[in-house]
This record gives sequence, C-alpha cells and structure tokens, in this order.
Amino acid sequence: MDNTALFNLSYGVFLLATKLEGKVNACITNTCMQVAASPTRVAISVINTNLTCEMLKESGIFSLSMLDVTCPFETIKHFGMQSGHNVDKFAEIKYPEDKNGVPFMDTHTCAVLSCHVVSSQDLGSHTLFIAEIDDAFNLSKEAPMIYAYYQSDVKPKPEKKAEDKKIVGWRCKICGYYHDEPELPKDFECPLCGHPAEDFEPVYEN
Ligand code: FE
Repeated sequence: MDNTALFNLSYGVFLLATKLEGKVNACITNTCMQVAASPTRVAISVINTNLTCEMLKESGIFSLSMLDVTCPFETIKHFGMQSGHNVDKFAEIKYPEDKNGVPFMDTHTCAVLSCHVVSSQDLGSHTLFIAEIDDAFNLSKEAPMIYAYYQSDVKPKPEKKAEDKKIVGWRCKICGYYHDEPELPKDFECPLCGHPAEDFEPVYEN
C-alpha cells in the first residue's frame, strides 16, 4: 500500500475553538465536512492528544473558523504548532464570541460555524465528532484556504542546511516527537500526532 495516495485527499484549514468552564483553547485542523443536510450536520476529526480534543469531549461545543487565503503562517503556527497544555494561546488575543460563548477568529476568516456535538467516536489516534450547527455566518469575501494551498503557498519552505553535518534523527515540528533514525520513510506518520514526514525536521550531529 502506498500511503502517499492519501495525500491527494482534499482538506481545508480551520481554527477549531472550544470553551470549558471559562477556559478557551483552539487548534488548527484540516478536517471538517458537511455530512448531512436535514438536520445540517458536520463531522470533524481531532487528534486525541490535543487539549482542544480533551476539552471538546466535555464541553460539547465548538466554533470552526474557516481560514481564508490571506491568513499568515504566523497565525497558523501560533494555534497549530504549540500545545495548549504548555501555553495559553489566548493570553494576548481577544476574539469575539459566538452565540455559544466560544471565541472565533474574525480576521483572515471567510466563514464561521458554531456547533454542538451530537455524537462522537474514538478512532484511535483521533476522535470523530458529529455536530449540529447552531449558527453560521460569512465574514470575508476571500477564498477559503485549502490544505494544498497552505502547503504550496503559506508554509515556509525548509531552509537549506549545511550538507557537511550528518543527520542523526528527525523531530516532529508539530508535537516534538523524536524519531531516532537517520532515515525517515516518505510515508512516515508521527506516532504521537499523526502528521506526515514533511512535518519533520532533521536533527544533525553536534
Ligand atoms: Fe508529531
């Protein structure tokens, strides 16, 4: 089986936020799709080790901000490449709240969904949440950012490293997992966060 075939599936780029007992957290996710029309239901899939996932299992409410093509990498990095377990992502950011009291992003965002969870299923690495929409509105007129566009036009290209140092391992830029081998297979997936080989950076010998 060639797992890289899965890279051809289409995804978006979203800010997924939730609120539990006054505490807010959010992460970047690429997985949301409408799965029913009557009632209107969406499905999202969230990595189990994410604080947002842990909180969402209890709160049952979330906002999904659909990022548009103007969203800078720094914003995606702020919410997507550090964990709410270690940092308060909203310490210096004040976003408006939706009708459920959950913050949503009102810049670089083309539309927002406010949802409540109606069922969920643990899929191992991720939990699948089925949700009904409580509110939906448009913001910018920009095109939604799709994941392929994020990869090609938003995410910085890796810097050229000095060739004279030997690679001893690879580190996941998303969760910090260390792969203690000089080779990283192209179809490798992080055992902790599920991100693909392209989200790993080489670790050089000292
Ligand atoms: Fe990882």
